Amino acid sequence: MLSRLVEQHKVERFASLLDRADKVVLTAHVSPDGDAVGATLAMWHFLKAKGKDAHVVLPNAFPDTLSWLPGARDIVLHDNDAARAGELLDAADVVCCMDFNAARRVGALQEALVKSPAVKIMIDHHPGPEDFCSLVISHPELSSTSELVFRLVCAIGCWYDLSYESAVCICTGMMTDTGGFTYNSNNPETYYIVSKLLEKGVDKDDIYRRVFNTQSEGRLRLMGHMLSECMTVLQDYAAALVVLTREDFCKFPVNKGDTEGFVNMPLSIRGVIFSAFLREDKDMIKVSLRSVGDFACNELAEKYFGGGGHKNASGGEFHGTMAEAEELMKKALLEYQDRLVAARRANQDK
Ligand code: 5GP
Ligand code: MN
Repeated sequence: MLSRLVEQHKVERFASLLDRADKVVLTAHVSPDGDAVGATLAMWHFLKAKGKDAHVVLPNAFPDTLSWLPGARDIVLHDNDAARAGELLDAADVVCCMDFNAARRVGALQEALVKSPAVKIMIDHHPGPEDFCSLVISHPELSSTSELVFRLVCAIGCWYDLSYESAVCICTGMMTDTGGFTYNSNNPETYYIVSKLLEKGVDKDDIYRRVFNTQSEGRLRLMGHMLSECMTVLQDYAAALVVLTREDFCKFPVNKGDTEGFVNMPLSIRGVIFSAFLREDKDMIKVSLRSVGDFACNELAEKYFGGGGHKNASGGEFHGTMAEAEELMKKALLEYQDRLVAARRANQDK
């Protein structure tokens, strides 16, 4: 049995808003990951089966490793077709804002989202939800937004209506946001949910293979280059710093999104509980942070890189040169050194 996590009045409002809506848009954060795509597509299948005119509208492309997801081809990308994305948001009765907690997290889609007259419902698991939705269903204690979708569907009494396609999308979101159930995944109910998804016919092992073991050759070679040439291990800080510049990318045939998961790799080194990944993007340096245990990397992301996220997975941006970004990261490391070393000790003592 699942505990009743979402307050009853929110469940009722959610059900009645969807019931009355005809046109629904499901959207998620920029550079959508498995949870963002999984959660929106799971809701899309569910609503389509209920006869709604539903559309998934995302700010930009998602990784190729998710293109097999049922419904992925029907997703409207704002950066491919801004006019269509704007039309759908304008016409919607309800917009579900999924897997993000602040309007700016949808990037260039923000203006159309804010302008849309639709009722907005936040369905998310990031801490610190901002005030831009009239119904906020926010549960940072959950593994993923996809898990929250499962719980909501059950809470409104629709478990029997949940299709195989929705179940596949939910399982993918839960699996990707927990690194294949290796972090953020100690809640026994997570596995109860997985067991219910298996009952719907989901092949969990096949999803794992499709998501994690279908990389491009270029990505694997870039990973090798990164580990050998671009990673500095700073044991005095219990940390590792990875820097990938445009020149590094040029050496390998890779696509956007091909560095997904790179930031986790240094955490497999003994003694490293914090990984910082700096990637040179078109007009900024993207910062990705990961930590293990007590060290809250979202605090560092917010303080130094105008970002945020979860305790153990966060990110931000830097506008300037890579050398300046590295300098700032080193300053941050110095400030957090004692906390990093203490967090490493706490992990070892467990
Ligand atoms: P990733 O490192 O995979 O890009 O992001 C990990 C998590 O960090 C995301 O799920 C999101 O919560 C958070 N995050 C990443 N970049 C940003 C950012 O620029 N701003 C904020 N507020 N959060 C971010
Ligand atoms: Mn998520």
